Amino acid sequence: MRRPIVAGNWKMHGSRTTASELLAGIKEGVDSVRNVGVVICPPYVYLDQVASLLKGTPISIGAQNLCQVTGHGAYTGEISGQMLRDLGCQHVIVGHSERRNIYGESDALVAEKSIAAHHADLTPIICVGELLEEREQGDTEKVVGRQLDALLSTAEGIEALRHSIVAYEPVWAIGTGKTATPEQAQDVHAFIRGRLAQIDQVLAEKVCILYGGSVKPGNAVELFGMKDIDGGLIGGASLNTDDFLAICRAAE
Ligand code: PEP
Repeated sequence: MRRPIVAGNWKMHGSRTTASELLAGIKEGVDSVRNVGVVICPPYVYLDQVASLLKGTPISIGAQNLCQVTGHGAYTGEISGQMLRDLGCQHVIVGHSERRNIYGESDALVAEKSIAAHHADLTPIICVGELLEEREQGDTEKVVGRQLDALLSTAEGIEALRHSIVAYEPVWAIGTGKTATPEQAQDVHAFIRGRLAQIDQVLAEKVCILYGGSVKPGNAVELFGMKDIDGGLIGGASLNTDDFLAICRAAE
């Protein structure tokens, strides 16, 4: 039985003040959320503040990115997995479509980052998903399969996947208000699980696959009700206490 997970990705939003306000509301409401893993992924600079505000709560902390290099070194501007652990993170988002499409992160780099996260004892939330034109050309499975294969093609990648969460995020649905229908999302989630099962049936059954892309309180119950959807990666709606809590409850 996979325990559902709801992760909030704050992206490059917020301030010290709004972070405290948002967390105060979430802390108050999270006790009424049963049997759902809740993760908050603030910008790097607020991780320390968020970690101290969430101390003693069941909410986990995640970063939004990490360096593919393990340990320390001359990598100006980068943050390692070990540093994130040191700050109290348990999770890290890897290969978000904004990293892939704005910052040119390749499938190979995303695989390296996922492995680095695993080596740092973090759970990577590995994002995959197709662009609108790729869906329209009927290439969704080809694209998502290629993104997964960057990990499935090496023993280290498979090992990292065993300790990962996968997030299917169709790029055309992120921040656009357009959500994949539950059936569209389920089809791709089943494809992902099937691809993992080709390598290892136990891994496929165990891995949580989240859906992300304009999840709101009004569509979360239907999406999370699908067989292979194990919760959500939430962008915009994670910046509103009531909406985020309602989405967490929808995953129960
Ligand atoms: C995301 O940032 O991963 C995301 C899914 O954003 P939104 O919920 O705003 O579409």
